[in-house]
Formats: sequence, structure tokens, C-alpha cells
Amino acid sequence: MGFDPIAAPTTPVSDTREPVFVHEGQLAEAARRVAARGRRPNVLVVVFDDVGWGDFGCYGGGVAFGAPTPNLDRLARRGLLLTSCYSEPSCTPSRATLLTGRLPIRHGLQRPPMYGERGGLEGEVTLAHLLAEAGYVTQAVGKWHLGENLASQPQHVGFDDFYGFLSVSDMYTEWRDPYFFPEIVYSDARTEWVKNMPFNRCFVHATRGGEPEQVEEVDIPALSLLDEKWASYSIDFIRGRAGRDEPWFLYHGTRGAHFDNYPHERFLGASPAKHPYKDTLLELDDIVGRLVAALEETGQLEDTLIFVTSDNGPHMENWPDAAFTPFRCAKGSTWEGGVRVPGIVAWPGTIDGERVSDGLFHFSDLLPTVLTLAGAADKVPTDRFVDGVDQTSFLLAPDGLSNRKYQYYWLLADLSALRVGEYKFVLVSTSDDDTDVAGPGGFTGVTQRYTYARLYNLYLDPKEQHSYLTRKLAYNEAFLHGIRHHLGTVMQFPGKKVMGLE
Ligand code: CA
Repeated sequence: MGFDPIAAPTTPVSDTREPVFVHEGQLAEAARRVAARGRRPNVLVVVFDDVGWGDFGCYGGGVAFGAPTPNLDRLARRGLLLTSCYSEPSCTPSRATLLTGRLPIRHGLQRPPMYGERGGLEGEVTLAHLLAEAGYVTQAVGKWHLGENLASQPQHVGFDDFYGFLSVSDMYTEWRDPYFFPEIVYSDARTEWVKNMPFNRCFVHATRGGEPEQVEEVDIPALSLLDEKWASYSIDFIRGRAGRDEPWFLYHGTRGAHFDNYPHERFLGASPAKHPYKDTLLELDDIVGRLVAALEETGQLEDTLIFVTSDNGPHMENWPDAAFTPFRCAKGSTWEGGVRVPGIVAWPGTIDGERVSDGLFHFSDLLPTVLTLAGAADKVPTDRFVDGVDQTSFLLAPDGLSNRKYQYYWLLADLSALRVGEYKFVLVSTSDDDTDVAGPGGFTGVTQRYTYARLYNLYLDPKEQHSYLTRKLAYNEAFLHGIRHHLGTVMQFPGKKVMGLE
């Protein structure tokens, strides 16, 4: 009899951890593979911005939609392609969850800070902190967007070095572009007013514990070169680590393909679609190809765990600077289109190639999983609740199953939904139109709370249009049990609110 995530019970880990599925056989095989490497792995995390679940060829997009992604497709074939990899609904909550192993209701970054708003990652324990303590060299490159205040900057939350910008692409350029903001561009007073907002208009370089140094002001021509410069910095980092003893953690956040896209000259009009968003996908694909090539050329590929993902679904309010998800709604929402993201995990020689899994993997899972691989599982914080599940055996064992039972969806401070297996139980959502699921984006709607909840079968109904609840009441208690347990942990370990709505 096969394993069934709805019927199977979980095993407690501790009061401050999410319960897990324990699959004995795969645990042993994963442990054998880790031991066989004889060296703690380097970790390369590449986070794209606002790229949809379906944009890459290996997820059904690619050449079919005017933007071939051969490097990403090849990497997916060399590893594990996750079809149920979950982010949070927007940039900052997702990135904070990826680096802390905690949900936004706990770390408090429920929405992105914009134009220098105060507040960020300060006070959280990050994967970079813990890996540095375990002897890793830690490098962040590219987009940060986890707070501009000094204590929230990368070099103060665990990274040895940072080269990138502190916020998000559109904030540097939208008010400089006469097509989007003529009323600012053609008004000296308003331009001056924007320039006086408390955000850093430059991209920066910083080293552990220090102040950031300005590298260059990010105007539109400068922005078009950022991903190229950041890729070169990361490639130099990888080359510089070759032959060294300490393992490393490189967190590389791209500028693309967040609106507005101004592709590098080399990629301008290079996609069959000839659209800036699609040209940018070609550039992102090329960057991944070059990062992997640098690992290969320096003999580090088999010593490196690679995770490539996107921080949320497509941003449909800015279509066509957004593209493909086969799921309902978009960035900003807890419909699948907002939070189901691409997830490619590769570690040639240790993770088998040609694997595809629909097992649940949430961004919070990265922290405990990587710490296990780094031989530092005992460093997972115990003074706060950590939502992440150790997925080592899921990722490493052939045909490994997910160790996570529940996917929790939070919409700001509301518990929105719960997924187990193919079923999703929805309490609260962002409104869109049930008959036009490709339509509005996730930031445009209102919060709607269902009288009796809704239940969707994501295999039969991936666009979440047909509530199945009254036909499937046998599942009701299973979901309510999961919800009660989860909300109990939030009551017991109250989170922070750093960035939310009043
Ligand atoms: Ca984003």
C-alpha cells in the first residue's frame, strides 16, 4: 500500500518545530549519500523575481511561449524538479521565509517595505548566521528587499559580503521613466520629492558588520546592466572559492524579471517574443548556465547543492511584464498562482537526475534541510518557532517522499488555506472572479472570508473554480485538525508584525 499524506500521521519534532512525516527507508539512504560525499556541500540559491511557475521550458513554457530556457531545462534534468514548491505571496515575505525558516506571521514581514519604509529582517536568525557559525563563507549578491535599515542589511544578518541593491527593481526606475510616470519626470518638484524619500538610490557593496558603500546610482541604463554585473560578481566568487577548505553559501537574487524590465543590450529583442519580459527570461537562463559552468570548470559542481526558484507568482497587475502560471490568480494572492513557484534542486552525483516530484516543499524548509547537510542540524533555533521541515531525505533519496504534511497559506495576518495531498481547504482569499481566473492580479482584490470554507481538488481543478466541500465532507475534520494545531502554535509563540497593514 502506498504512502498517503492525508491518512498518514505525523511525528512531533519539538514544541518549536512543525511535525513531520518520517520515512525510515529514505532516511537511511539519504544519510548514506551524505556520508559518501565526505565533505559538507556548498549551497547556491538563485532567486528570480516574479517569474511564473510555468515560464521555464521544463514547466511547460519556454519555447512554446517565446522564451526558450535551455540552461534551466538542462539543470532540471540533472536534478529534481519540484511541481509543488511554495513561496509566500510577495517578494519580502518569501525571501524572509527562505532565509529564516519561519512564516511571515512569525518573522513579521507580511508585505514588502517600499521607498525606504522602516523595518526589516533585524532580530531574526538567518540561514547565513547559522552557516557562518558552522564555518561557511557566506555571500549575498543582487536583490535584497529585506529592509534598508543598517541592522537589517545582509552584512548585519549573517553575510560576510554583499553586492547588490537593498530594495526592488521598480523603485529605482519607475519614476525616471516618462512612459510610466510622466507627471514626475516632467516635474522638477516631484522628481526632487521622490529623490528625498529615505531610500538608497544606489546599489551597494558591504562587508560583514560594516556600512554600505555606494557603487553606482541605479538609473535606467545602469539597471539594464545589473544582472550582468551581479552574475560576474557571483561567478568571481565561485572561482575564488575553488580549492579552498571552507564550504560556502551563495545567495544570488536577480533583478529580473520584476517589472519594469530593461534587458541588457545583448538580450534586447533576442527572444522569439521580442518582449522585454521574455528577453529577460533569456538573460536569467543564461546566468544560470554560466553559474553552473563556473562550478563545473572549477571542479565544485559535485560539491554544491543548487536551488533555483522564484519568490512569488507572476505580477498580473503589470502584465505583460509577467507571464505564465497555469494556476488561479497571481502574485499577492494565496491562490496557487500567487505562491506556487518553480523549484529546481540539483546536486549532481548525490541527487539523482530526471526526477520530478509533486511532494510539498515550502520555502521555510530550506533552512533546516541545509543545516542538516551542513552537519549543523543542532543549530536550528529553539527560542522561537521554526516552520521549516527537514527535507533532506525527500531531496536525496531516489523517489523520496516529502516530509511535510501541510502547506499553510497566510494572507497577511489571516490564515487563508491549508493543503494536504491534492486537496486545498480555503478559509480566506483575495477576491478575483471565479469565471475569469487569468484576470486580475493579487494586489487588486479585497479579502473575502467564506461562510463555510471551500475545498478544491488541485489535480482535478488546478484553477480552483469548483468548490468540492459539500461532496467531500469526510475530509473536513482532517483539515480542521491541522488548522487548530497550526493556530495553536501561533497562539503559543506569538509572532512579530514588522510590515503589514494597520
Ligand atoms: Ca517578487
